[in-house]
Amino acid sequence: MDPWDLKDKVVVIAGIGDDQGFAWAIAKAFKNLGAKVIAGTWPPLLGILEQILVNEKFSESRRLKNGEELSFDAIYPLDALYDTLDAVPFEVKENKRYKGLQDFSISGFVSAVAQDFKKVDIVIHAIANAKEIKNPLSMTSREGYLHAISASSYSFVSLCSHFKNLMEPNGSCLTLTYRAADQVIPGYGGGMSSAKAALEADVRYLAYELGQEKMIRVNAISAGPLASRAARAIGMIDSMIEYSFHNSPIQRDLEAEDVANTMLFLASPLGKAITGQVLFVDHGLGVMGRPTQKMIQKEEALV
Ligand code: NAD
Repeated sequence: MDPWDLKDKVVVIAGIGDDQGFAWAIAKAFKNLGAKVIAGTWPPLLGILEQILVNEKFSESRRLKNGEELSFDAIYPLDALYDTLDAVPFEVKENKRYKGLQDFSISGFVSAVAQDFKKVDIVIHAIANAKEIKNPLSMTSREGYLHAISASSYSFVSLCSHFKNLMEPNGSCLTLTYRAADQVIPGYGGGMSSAKAALEADVRYLAYELGQEKMIRVNAISAGPLASRAARAIGMIDSMIEYSFHNSPIQRDLEAEDVANTMLFLASPLGKAITGQVLFVDHGLGVMGRPTQKMIQKEEALV
């Protein structure tokens, strides 16, 4: 069996809103190998995604290896803060970006996929959100903290729990995390560091539970910095990219495709013995204990 032939695979990607983030590159990587790719998109970004999929300006960004352009096999609205439509507050249902949409809760999303595709092989979670991302942890409210955990960590638990019933043995669930889970990254606020730490613990527990129950593997990729929409909201992504470039063993800017390709490997039969892991795709930045001499000299030159 060719591990890179994905023609009979159905891949769900939760968290595609534009062509700047990891999810877009992941969608293209799976499409390049023939998989069916389903997008779950946050309602406020549905219009933006639809434009990117038709506007001439984005045709190069949509380009696949075979020359065709990326299109999704289905796009469903998804707000991963809610497990059922009953849990959605009235003001959200009435909001102009949500009104009239089909059931956008996690269970509504999963039911729509079940009805249209019958099965799922790979579930990818590329969602992070924190209302108070610019607040240091010690100035984050309870509400802001719980929002970060709900949107960025529990959403993965819920997606896995709901989708496992549609998955067969050897299926794969994957998420994206960040070094701030276990080291201090100043500026990564609003409870997002806690959310990533929770997410990484959840990967291990889900790997155990879904592995024993259904032979489903669960892994995370801890990515280096990329100037996505979510990362720009943190407000210091350019300096994080520069820091990473100067301090990593491999001096190169991270491309979203680097993460997408690692996801292909983890989801493929080549990764069949890997589960419960957090794999770093960061040019090795995470192994460095202090800034490189070049960075220190650069900073001294600025003083
Ligand atoms: P992104 O902005 O492309 O992706 C985040 C997505 O989350 C967006 O599409 C947004 O619509 C979605 N989202 C937010 N709230 C949602 C909700 N309630 N329901 C459904 N969707 C919701 O940015 P990205 O950087 O590609 O982020 C993808 C993942 O990668 C995140 O988990 C992020 O923490 C992680 N990551 C990013 C970096 C980086 O430097 N960009 C580094 C390491 C890890």
